Amino acid sequence: MIRQFELVERVKAYDPNADEVGINGAYVFAMKAHGSQKRASGDPYFSHPIEVAGILTSYRVDSATIETALLHDTIEDTVATLEDIRAHFGNEVAQLVDGVTKLTRIEFQSDRAKQAENFRKLVLAMSEDIRVLLVKLADRLHNMRTLHYIKSDEKRRRIAMETMDIYAPLAERIGMQEIKTELEDLAFAEINPEARRAVVKRLDTLREQGGELVPKIIGELTETLSENGIEAEVNGREKSPYSIWRKMQKHDVGFEQLSDIMAFRITVNSIEDCYKALGVAHNAYRVVPGRFKDYISMPKPNGYQSLHTGVFGPHQQRIELQIRTRVMHDVAELGVAAHWNYKQGGPAKDGTQYRWLRELLDILEHASDPEEVLEHSKMEMFQDQVFCFTPRGDLINLPRGATTVDFAYAVHSEVGDHCVGAKINGKMMPLRTELRNGDQVEIVTSKAQTPNPTWERFVVTGKARARIRRFVRLQEREEYEKLGRSILQRSFKEADYELTEKGLNAALKKLTLATVDDLYVAVGMGNQSGREVLEAVYPRAKRKNKDGDDIVVPLAEARSRKRGKDKGEGGGVPIQGLIPGMAMHFAGCCHPLPGDRIVGIVTTGRGVTVHTIDCDTLEGYGDEPERWLDLAWDRGEAQHDLHVGRVHVTVANAPGSLGDLSTMIAKNDGNISNLKIINRSTDFFDMLIDVEVRDVKHLTDIIAALRASPAVNSVERAKG
Ligand code: MN
Repeated sequence: MIRQFELVERVKAYDPNADEVGINGAYVFAMKAHGSQKRASGDPYFSHPIEVAGILTSYRVDSATIETALLHDTIEDTVATLEDIRAHFGNEVAQLVDGVTKLTRIEFQSDRAKQAENFRKLVLAMSEDIRVLLVKLADRLHNMRTLHYIKSDEKRRRIAMETMDIYAPLAERIGMQEIKTELEDLAFAEINPEARRAVVKRLDTLREQGGELVPKIIGELTETLSENGIEAEVNGREKSPYSIWRKMQKHDVGFEQLSDIMAFRITVNSIEDCYKALGVAHNAYRVVPGRFKDYISMPKPNGYQSLHTGVFGPHQQRIELQIRTRVMHDVAELGVAAHWNYKQGGPAKDGTQYRWLRELLDILEHASDPEEVLEHSKMEMFQDQVFCFTPRGDLINLPRGATTVDFAYAVHSEVGDHCVGAKINGKMMPLRTELRNGDQVEIVTSKAQTPNPTWERFVVTGKARARIRRFVRLQEREEYEKLGRSILQRSFKEADYELTEKGLNAALKKLTLATVDDLYVAVGMGNQSGREVLEAVYPRAKRKNKDGDDIVVPLAEARSRKRGKDKGEGGGVPIQGLIPGMAMHFAGCCHPLPGDRIVGIVTTGRGVTVHTIDCDTLEGYGDEPERWLDLAWDRGEAQHDLHVGRVHVTVANAPGSLGDLSTMIAKNDGNISNLKIINRSTDFFDMLIDVEVRDVKHLTDIIAALRASPAVNSVERAKG
């Protein structure tokens, strides 16, 4: 176990300005918090966070990351709270620890949720700060190193699979080659021990046959390069058992053919020397065709740069050569952590330390290498998504801003239609609550519940919106059907004809409608006039009414019905004469206000539009009286709601006149909700102003006040 002063020394070796007090504090805090807890190995639990911090010192991370590593299991596994950590170590560390804790929590979701790709996305999306991911990877690495202590076969296997599917690719994704290789090999040993043993045995045999080939080849390569005037450091290694195994799987070759098991790294001083060294190698040794790759001019998406080639080496062994500069090497081994060090000269305190993160995002975003295993793992792509879980652990992927209702519909249409409430992480929350990454959501349903039209205002997914609309349409259809029936009864009665189902049925074909119900709806929506239907059923009715008298449809029934339960449909506006449940809205042409005489027009597919009685638009409906609804403001109810009235104002184009105007409106308790300049000359502004007022009298008062203002040339209510 690394001791306290050793850890601080290690950090100070690369960061002389390290936060010694913070690191010491975190060390002691974690040690106390974990107390006598033990690991599966029998070691004190506290050895784990210290080892994780130790691993991270190799990546020269900042003090906050080291502190986070020390504290990373305290919230989940001890009585310490996030607030304690914030109080002791400040906001930055608290946020990082919180991030790691959340990642740890999602590890315990069921396997179903962990389809590798989704889970990788989730981890990326939740690692809003890349340091969270660094700590998590180091945490996983130490857990893998000590995996053999865990007794349960099943648990070991699960952790190993997860490492292989999720964490190793993530490490590769952010360019941490070293961690990736070790994670993979540790997981391989657990998942397929026989295969690994076989590979290791083969390696031993090859080693016996060829003697100590690696040092020999290193010596010869170094010499050859030096003879050609290139200063280089040559390192050689056997490839990891897992990477050999994977190559065997991929190329379907057996152990016998597999000779390409050694890789040599040639580190030189400049990019120029990289290409020179490549030339030397290709000159001195026979080239293995198809193995040359130039990742210097075409870096990998994770930033990796090197020249790769394969040659038949000094002893006719196939060997792999990687040629790169020192900087490229550090990037290859340390990934993002290297960016950190080289680009910033150590972590900065002013937030610029995130520049490398942006660069990384940039690299990921522009990656288009088809060989990329994780083509979808672009962090940026996930900024607009949230990942949540069902109580069973299924992962539900939603756009950012999605609410519990979106979640419900994503689970199943029926669940959405019948949802009455939602528990987020066990707590009952309003349906409109926006979901966050990692939330576990349980939808409470009731068979009696139906979709609420107001949900449409906050859902963001197409599926939820479509289902809600569908339901609203069905409900509206019923209302239109009622209205249509009533219109037809009147139309027929006025003309002295009998309205029968049989008669309507006979006219369906002529009207190109499928059912009588459809016909009622068409009439109710205003797509078909009562008169047209009458003439379709009784062609002679046309002649009988040739004097062109309009059939007046008093709609007594409709008018007498008071608005009751469907108050919401009209936005809470008390109007008499509306059909219950019908969609109602105010016309944009005349902006009716309480106190105005009003009339409703049944508009195709849009329910009832309310106009002022003197609106010019009404002329267009002169020959369709059956579409008119006689409406009146309900004076019985108190008026609290504000309505938009529109005035047409001309003011002098002079300094301060617009200010005077708005002051005047505000003084009179009006609120400008919209203002549009429709004409602007050197002398005057001509504009339309929408003002929120209580009723027509309120607007009239404002108009009067404006007229009195010296800046105002003319003002009148805008209509039509
Ligand atoms: Mn841990």
